[in-house]
This record gives sequence, structure tokens and C-alpha cells, in this order.
Amino acid sequence: MKNTGKRIGIISNRRRQSQEICRQLKQKLKQNHFILNDNNPDIVISIGGDGMLLSAFHKYEEQLDKVRFVGVHTGHLGFYTDYRDFELDKLINNLKLDTGAKVSYPILNVKIFHGNNEICIKRALNEATIKRSGRTMVADVIINQVHFERFRGDGISVSTPTGSTAYNKSLGGAVLHPTIEALQIAEVASLNNRVFRTLGSSIIVPKKDKIEIVPTWNDRHAISIDNQNFMINNISKIEFQIDQHKINFLATPSHTSFWNRVKDAFIGEVEE
Ligand code: NAD
Repeated sequence: MKNTGKRIGIISNRRRQSQEICRQLKQKLKQNHFILNDNNPDIVISIGGDGMLLSAFHKYEEQLDKVRFVGVHTGHLGFYTDYRDFELDKLINNLKLDTGAKVSYPILNVKIFHGNNEICIKRALNEATIKRSGRTMVADVIINQVHFERFRGDGISVSTPTGSTAYNKSLGGAVLHPTIEALQIAEVASLNNRVFRTLGSSIIVPKKDKIEIVPTWNDRHAISIDNQNFMINNISKIEFQIDQHKINFLATPSHTSFWNRVKDAFIGEVEE
């Protein structure tokens, strides 16, 4: 029988259960005439939890425009995962019915500078966080060229709408529906007293606005981009904006509504 023409890449964590699901899924995909191709996929399936989908995003971040993602969770349902591990047949069926429909969400573009030179560009699906290594971070926060505040504290996180339910929420930030194209700045343990002052609440910044963080100390800072961590010396500035690319998820009948995910993760069943 002719193959479906759809190239599927699979990325799985090393847990035994995920490896077994990966083996079963590959077998089912082959039986149903899909092409297994990790280098140039149309659809990427991550097996594991939200962290695995974050890793899949970073593995394929240079191919975002042509790849759609779908997550299989080996535990409870995650934020980026639509299928549980016992739903492989449902996933295969939906892949067979798939007509290319997608659901797209904004991601974050992060530019890191030394002096006037841009040294690297990174993309985040959840958030980017800057902290000073072992000391109070002191940094100017500039929003759309307005010198907004001088921050003192542990650090600052800038999150995407889909990342608003992750670290941002633990920092007291708001939950944003992922169709709202905006970024959120959340403080990590700011110093607020008679001498030092920050806004204290999280700030939601619209599409096209630029956020700049300018550390006053040119020493070592810790930058976290989703589940990746970097120590970088001599950062003069970091710029944050919504990226021109988006992440695309496979839109199938199993794509869980955002409010159901939030309810499932944080509230549970509501007693009538
Ligand atoms: P991990 O294994 O420690 O996962 C952290 C938890 O965050 C997991 O339960 C995961 O399901 C959940 N999570 C991830 N993305 C989410 C999202 N968009 N919405 C709601 N929950 C989400 O770490 P990891 O797998 O390496 O994932 C890294 C992410 O963990 C980071 O991007 C950060 O957002 C989050 N994190 C949260 C805290 C915190 O809340 N205090 C601290 C560190 C990291």
C-alpha cells in the first residue's frame, strides 16, 4: 500500500515507559504507512511530559514554519500534550484524518548583547529568566523605550502566553489565553522598601512592544530559556519581543481547550 506521504519525527525521554510507548508508536505508524523521519519531519510527536515538548520545540526551532507538534503524555495530561499514553490508536486515527490544520501560539525572541554587539538570539516557548549569579540583581527595565524602573531582587522572568501557567504563575503572574499575543514580565523576589521600588505586580506587554533589561553590573548572569540554563559574562542588555515565528500544534479533535487544561491542572473537579 502507498505511504501517506506524511513524515513523522519522534522525540522521547529516556524513561522506560516512554521508550516502550515510543517503540509501540513507531510500529503503529509504520503499519499505517507513515514515514518515520527525524531530520525533516512534517509532524513531531513528543513522548513524555511538558518538558519533553519543550525539548522537541528546541530541537526543531529552526524548522518552526513547516513543523507541527503533538505531545503524548506518559503521566497526567500536560499543558502541551493532547494524548495520554494509552491513546496511541486515537492519535494514529487522527493523523490519518489530518488535513494539515494547526493551532498556532506566540513564542518569545531573546537577544543577548555584549556592549553594542548582539552575541546570541534565543527563542523560548515558556519563558526566559535572568538572575545574577549569587548576588542581588540590579537592572533597568525599559519598556518600549520608556525607562520604567530600576529593579533590585533575585531576577526577572519574561513569559509567553502558553508559558503564563508555568514559572510565571508561581511568581504570581496572570494566566493569559494563548491567543492573546502578549508577553508578561514577572518579578522574582524584588526588593521593595523606602529606598528601592518596583511596580510589584506582573506587567502584560502587547505585541510589537520591546522589553529591555539592562543589568548595572557587567558580571555573570544566569539565563534560563525554558528547560535550558546558561551562565553568561558581561551582558550589557537583553531584549525581549514576540518572535516573528509561532509554534504550530496539530489541530485534531483531541486538542484540549486551554481553559480545560488550566482547570484540570490547578482546580480539578468542581463540586456542583
Ligand atoms: P520540570 O520537570 O521541573 O517541570 C516543571 C513543571 O512545570 C512540570 O510539572 C511541567 O508539567 C510544568 N510545566 C511546564 N511547562 C508548563 C506550562 N507551559 N504550563 C504549566 N505547567 C508547565 O522542568 P522542565 O520539564 O525542565 O520544564 C521547565 C519549565 O519548568 C520551565 O520553562 C519553567 O516554566 C518551569 N519551572 C517552574 C518553576 C516553578 O514553578 N517554581 C521552577 C522552575 C521551572
